[in-house]
Amino acid sequence: AGKGTQAGRCANRRGLTHVSTGDLFRENLEQQTPVGLMAKGFMDRGMLVPDEVVCQMVRGRLEDEDTEGGFILDGFPRTEAQAETLTGDLGRMQRPLTDVISFDLDDDRIRERICGRLTCRECKSPFHRTLNPPSEDGVCDGCGGELYTRDDDREEAVGARLGEYRDKTAPLLRYYGERGLLRMVDASGSVDDVSRALERVLEDR
Ligand code: AMP
Repeated sequence: AGKGTQAGRCANRRGLTHVSTGDLFRENLEQQTPVGLMAKGFMDRGMLVPDEVVCQMVRGRLEDEDTEGGFILDGFPRTEAQAETLTGDLGRMQRPLTDVISFDLDDDRIRERICGRLTCRECKSPFHRTLNPPSEDGVCDGCGGELYTRDDDREEAVGARLGEYRDKTAPLLRYYGERGLLRMVDASGSVDDVSRALERVLEDR
């Protein structure tokens, strides 16, 4: 739905650290760590990585100094068990969540965005062949890195990803709604439209 693009922009605007669990797994895989190698099997099939693995990775990342001034979690939590673990961890650190954003988009538009996506190998910035093309073919506007298509952005994996979302992640809307943290953002517009909608939601709260 564009969560990575929006999380990156919002982190820049607000001076927060962007923590993306998908990026952390992909970095682990590049470095051939045990976490990366085990996550790959799940990611390539469009399945969620087991909760304990993700939670431990996020716990470690939140101990890094650069998160002390505030952070945006992108793609985490994705199950109720992860949400419960996160609530406990952040409670102990006395750094509770202030907002949970859900980007709202229908499945057809999600497929269109995923199937045209290009990702920078170096800085991980996302582009899209038609909706957000780079100035120069195959080259990242930000850092000049090479753009590639993620294995899990293939058509075959996308159906499984949507299924995982419906079964395991969608219940979190209720979980965070009941806790008064959930903010819905219409993600159907352009990147700039969605950024503005997100800022409005954060200012209005
Ligand atoms: P993303 O980059 O957010 O689209 O995540 C890519 C893939 O990484 C997902 O389809 C999952 O296989 C895995 N992943 C990322 N975050 C999580 C999470 N919180 N829980 C389980 N798996 C995750």
